[in-house]
Amino acid sequence: MIKFINANKWFNSHHVLKNINLEITKGEVVVICGPSGAGKSTLLRTINKLEPIDDGEIIVDDIYLSDPKTNLTALRAEVGMVFQHFNLYPHKTALRNITLAPRKVRGLNKKQARERAAKLLERVGLSHRQNALPSQLSGGEQQRVAIARSLAMEPKVILFDEPTSALDPELINDVLDVMISLAKEGMTMVVVTHEIGFAQKVADRVVFMDAGEILEVGSPPDIFVNPKHQRTREFMSKVFHIPIFNENKEED
Ligand code: ADP
Ligand code: MG
Repeated sequence: MIKFINANKWFNSHHVLKNINLEITKGEVVVICGPSGAGKSTLLRTINKLEPIDDGEIIVDDIYLSDPKTNLTALRAEVGMVFQHFNLYPHKTALRNITLAPRKVRGLNKKQARERAAKLLERVGLSHRQNALPSQLSGGEQQRVAIARSLAMEPKVILFDEPTSALDPELINDVLDVMISLAKEGMTMVVVTHEIGFAQKVADRVVFMDAGEILEVGSPPDIFVNPKHQRTREFMSKVFHIPIFNENKEED
């Protein structure tokens, strides 16, 4: 579904992605973690070409992103993105935030788009908030609208960039529950997060990045409990405090 081949990126002289090789298959849930400035957001943003790479190749669903003729609208319709700060249109209702892109890009008529949006709002537990503006919603509700908006395009993969890190702690679980249900339904997901519970429940693999490099990739216990690199170990003990891993991924 997604393949990085020796991908490199610089911001001026700063080498922010160093020889990235990573393949993500259909239906996989991959969690990316690592310290601030490691290049996690940049890596995620290269997948829908919000950031172009300077060297190497990224292939997304058979689209070669180095090709200057890449249809970015088509690419971004297949690759949804959910941001830390939700990025909803502030003057549009929850429903309108969701109907907009499917009407413009997918060619749905008003009725079809509204029906799809209403179903998705129900799915994220917000049927009763259809006509609310983002400012009238809590952060957790806004993020669930943002996830519904992304789903409305019926993407093949969804990228999440620290989707719960701007939320009050008591609002995080409602968002994670939506993400967990998506993962269990087989959505391909690439998630930058330090929510270890989420990773333990649904991540197929965890990628640890530092200073533009992928230092190691493994199962959640591989990375959280028995990391190979000293740098990963240091990071895990700082971030998670809990050295014990005792919950296996649920098998359906
Ligand atoms: P992370 O998400 O892991 O915190 P980022 O991908 O945001 O890391 O950033 C990686 C590095 O690239 C950081 O050193 C950051 O300052 C730098 N960087 C990110 N975006 C830009 C940009 N648009 N211009 C210049 N430097 C950037
Ligand atoms: Mg980031």
